[in-house]
Amino acid sequence: MSRFHMASQILGLEEEIYNVLKNPARQVIVSLPVTMDDGSIKVFEGYRVIHSTILGPSKGGIRFDPHVNLDEVKALAAWMTWKCAVVDIPYGGAKGGVTCNPREMSTGEIERLMRAYTQAMADVFGPDRDIPAPDMGTGPREMAWLMDQFSRNQGMTTHAVVTGKPLVMGGSLGRTEATGRGVMVSSMAAMEKLKINPYKATCAVQGFGNVGSWAASLLHERGLIVQAISDLSGAYYNEKGIDIGAGIKFRETNKGTLEGFDGAEKITNENLLTLPVVLLVPAATEDVITHSNAANIQAKLIVEGANGPTSSKADNIINEKGIVVVPDILANAGGVTVSYFEWVQNRLGYKWTADRVNRRSDRIMKDAFMNVYKTAQNYKVPMRIAAYMVAIDKVSKTYKYRGGY
Ligand code: GLU
Repeated sequence: MSRFHMASQILGLEEEIYNVLKNPARQVIVSLPVTMDDGSIKVFEGYRVIHSTILGPSKGGIRFDPHVNLDEVKALAAWMTWKCAVVDIPYGGAKGGVTCNPREMSTGEIERLMRAYTQAMADVFGPDRDIPAPDMGTGPREMAWLMDQFSRNQGMTTHAVVTGKPLVMGGSLGRTEATGRGVMVSSMAAMEKLKINPYKATCAVQGFGNVGSWAASLLHERGLIVQAISDLSGAYYNEKGIDIGAGIKFRETNKGTLEGFDGAEKITNENLLTLPVVLLVPAATEDVITHSNAANIQAKLIVEGANGPTSSKADNIINEKGIVVVPDILANAGGVTVSYFEWVQNRLGYKWTADRVNRRSDRIMKDAFMNVYKTAQNYKVPMRIAAYMVAIDKVSKTYKYRGGY
């Protein structure tokens, strides 16, 4: 909210429109009774917040995590509105979530929960209404259940109701790696502007889920030395660089965790953030860079793979240190961009090649980066505020054309 407020003031946004954009359009809370494997019935709480449908049907992932709550989902939904606007795709913003711990649930329990959630949201979701996707704790498997459950209700296969599906059932080539790829593209664009040679530039990536592992591996491919990676089990540091491929293989054969990964020295997630690297990519979760550790950050460039990794109180400290931040709503927008391509392909009944998907998403990411970069220079503001300005300007102008009551 504080960034939205600041950008709105610089733009001179009218108070009426500020109030429209400040409040989510719709908030749905559901109780989901699910039969657990032991025969007991557990009731989960699920949310879907539609922040805005001004630019088009709302778009945003579904999070399965023990920390999910309405306030978090509201914030994540608003970020989706700004994210879609920054990369100029015709979607509004939404987010969903269920308070649960998928790590402690069986496959069957997760499937029943996902189907119950989809059923409860039957009148919310729709290819022209609200289009979910994966987020923390969900992936292609969950999207397949969602698509199937929604299609059963409709009495017909409805691919375009959800993105991030498995390839064999209407998923898009390039979607899995899309967010990490966008992080890489934004990092390369930022390094070019900062005149940093990416070859042998050092980097630390926090988080080794879908976004972090792809970002690390693609940055490594571009010649950077990824000195540290991390997950919930801790962080792993090697001055000479970590073999990312080995990390991914290790995780796959080690129940999805890096615990015990030997190509590196074990440090904490907190230490990873303050390593003397050129590029820092927080790609885990919200609020990891805060007013208490921001002063110790040594990176020259931060590219935000996660949503909201930097608290607003940390912004000033980071700006004063002269660290350049490519903000979340720009840096991690590669995921929703390829989600948009998946939706377009589903509606066309056609499949694009990986090359076409990557070329088009790289172009969108580069154009969005340049637009935000120029806005930052023109208004002499940090890129985060510039990204909000670009987004708010687009949404508010569209709102004026569409009109209210
Ligand atoms: N959950 C992702 C995000 O936060 C992707 C959303 C989407 O593809 O709709 O951007």
